[in-house]
Amino acid sequence: MKMDRLRLSFEELAKFTDKGEGINRLAYTKMERDARLYMIEQLKLAGLTVRTDYAGNVIARREGAAPDLPVVATGSHIDSVYAAGEFDGTAGVLVALEIMRSLADEGIATLHPLEVIIFACEESARFGASTLGSKAMTGRLDPAYTRSLTDKNGVTLMHAFEENGLDLEEVHLAKRFRDEFKAFVELHVEQGPVLEKQDVSIGIVSAIAAPIRFHVHVEGTADHSGTTPMDYRHDALLGGAEIALAVERAAIEELAHGTVGTVGVFSIQPGAMNVVPGLAELDVDIRGTSLESRQRVVEALEKAIDDVKKARCLNIWMEEISSETPVQMDNALVKDLESVCEAQGIAWMKMPSGAGHDAMNMASLCPTGMIFVPSKDGLSHNPAEFTSMEQLMEGAQVLRAFLLKQAQTVD
Ligand SMILES: [Zn+2]
Repeated sequence: MKMDRLRLSFEELAKFTDKGEGINRLAYTKMERDARLYMIEQLKLAGLTVRTDYAGNVIARREGAAPDLPVVATGSHIDSVYAAGEFDGTAGVLVALEIMRSLADEGIATLHPLEVIIFACEESARFGASTLGSKAMTGRLDPAYTRSLTDKNGVTLMHAFEENGLDLEEVHLAKRFRDEFKAFVELHVEQGPVLEKQDVSIGIVSAIAAPIRFHVHVEGTADHSGTTPMDYRHDALLGGAEIALAVERAAIEELAHGTVGTVGVFSIQPGAMNVVPGLAELDVDIRGTSLESRQRVVEALEKAIDDVKKARCLNIWMEEISSETPVQMDNALVKDLESVCEAQGIAWMKMPSGAGHDAMNMASLCPTGMIFVPSKDGLSHNPAEFTSMEQLMEGAQVLRAFLLKQAQTVD
């Protein structure tokens, strides 16, 4: 594998961006389509056979000596959020391309076919729905839901599909089957600070955390800030603040399980300097890889609501917005990845993934694993997102050794 060639790949792909700060390559736009066509060309040059499925996923196949055996697949995405960095998703795709090029250079053949998959619409930035491509591939896409999706300019997903030569009514045909795959492994940037802080090169993902989300309404009384004595107030903001702090305390209690709790939205009304806040609205996101641990934080939230309601005479109610289930990575693949790192002499650690990835859908289809490489300062979804070429090459080394072990090299 060649680091200079890998660096050049990143430079070339980064040219496919719409105006704005950082990378702007939103799902199903012309820019993303052009990037996809560029990637298809590069994968073909590396000797792979490439097709695009009914969801716009790119599936590139490197034939095996036994073509009927299930494929060993890797991949990620090249669509981005607004003002993104250069590495989220692209790391897994360009490292896979570099691996395929190196196999061609060295004339290496495998028994099982290999696949590089570029998943469509991983990011929710455009349509408010994430991992559409991998959901389609794994038969987890709800047709009624996809028909309702529009972007902020009012463009429907259906229309975006048409612009890509796709038909949303046919998206179910993208579904693939369990026996087509031996394994799927996604390499991705960590998007958090842990690997860098621990000075470890590779994260082997044990499980992908999933969020449960709530909307909390805190209703007090909007009063004059000058004429209402402190002991006559029903301040919604202060009630909400106590609830937010209770979520933090409960999540800290669960530190050992990696569960996290966040109040990311907190708005008050009427929002004037001389008025005691009458209404506070909070959006709470609690996520983890352990359902039991996550549930304990939810219970602490419910208790805090009860306590604050009584102590401050506020009217508080909460509604669940969504609840998803954490996804475990395949145990045998995790062990395999560990032994590959050991054999390569590369420092590794097991860790959960706090963010969602295409791998969590693929896990419903076949044995699935994930490899993380470090993110500088833990930054992601940010133009300053950075992973060094040296770090990416270490990831490439692990992924390549893993793919060859799974697919079995032949002479
Ligand atoms: Zn990503």
